[in-house]
Amino acid sequence: MSKILDGKACAADAKEHIKKWIERDLQKPPILAIFTVGDDDASKVYVRNKIKAAEEVGIIAKHYTITKEQYWQDEFLWDRIQDAIDEADGVILQKPVAWWFNEEAFLNYLPYWKDVDGLTTMNVGRLRTQPKDALIPCTPAGIMELLYENDCIQNRGNALVIGRSELVGRPIAEMLTADDWTVTIAHSKTPRDVLLDAFARADLVVSATGKRNLITEEDAEQYFKDNRHYPVADFAFKRDRVIVDVSINRDENGKLCGDFSEEFKDKYSAYYTPVPGGVGPMTVAMLMFNTYFAARERDYYERKEQKKKELTK
Ligand code: NAP
Repeated sequence: MSKILDGKACAADAKEHIKKWIERDLQKPPILAIFTVGDDDASKVYVRNKIKAAEEVGIIAKHYTITKEQYWQDEFLWDRIQDAIDEADGVILQKPVAWWFNEEAFLNYLPYWKDVDGLTTMNVGRLRTQPKDALIPCTPAGIMELLYENDCIQNRGNALVIGRSELVGRPIAEMLTADDWTVTIAHSKTPRDVLLDAFARADLVVSATGKRNLITEEDAEQYFKDNRHYPVADFAFKRDRVIVDVSINRDENGKLCGDFSEEFKDKYSAYYTPVPGGVGPMTVAMLMFNTYFAARERDYYERKEQKKKELTK
């Protein structure tokens, strides 16, 4: 039996710490502004979870919904968005975002020090050049935390990242590279045999494609048959890898599932994240951490300014 990387337990632990840090370090509760655009059901669930987590750690979450009518007709919409951003310590635009909304314009509007999802150009660049100061995207940050907390990081061998989005694939590949893993990135145009080869060699697989049954047990067995003369054919036997399944899909019965079935992960890994209960709770916990981090920076600069004023009186 493989070991399950319990994101719920790890996130609960992280939130306990964040709550203490907020009480210890900040003069007032941080404010997190959550923007949703359109009427997506999945978004509502994600936002509910984030508001609940915020309450748990002592963050004030404010939820703003932007409708299509407001977007096209309300000439003061961007002024109100600006007010909400000014008031908040951290701001996120909940995905998925309706097609008619200009997501890029929103991100350009957002000061990078409030971008607690780490998606502005400045934070994307700082992830590479100044990772200690950057607001790091929550899902990759949560994955790294989960790996560290479960001692899955000793063997920094081959890592396969499946997916190259700005939200998950690219930043986790960046973070793993910085952490001395040898990283391969696969995407929808990666030839099937190349993907399977990379999987066979991987000590760590992070998958974020949103495609259910991306690799199945049949694929694994066929791969083994086709490659049995080569050393990489230990695919079918290799059980010491870690599989981090980021995706949130629904099966034919509407049940949540990841890119791989739980049976597949159990068979082809030593450690794996379940869906649900793996990466999802960690993402939310890291959002709370980023909001605390942003508020602490703001607090620090406000106090510094205050001191300067007092000294020049
Ligand atoms: P995305 O922007 O749609 O990116 C998906 C990536 O997967 C793309 O790079 C795509 O390649 C690649 N891909 C698609 N089909 C593939 C295939 N057959 N083989 C290899 N690569 C393939 O999605 P995302 O925002 O990264 O999210 C991915 C999944 O993670 C979704 O299910 C989302 O709900 C979930 N998610 C979960 C959390 C969490 O907290 N658990 C957080 C964020 C996202 P191309 O670039 O070539 O199109």
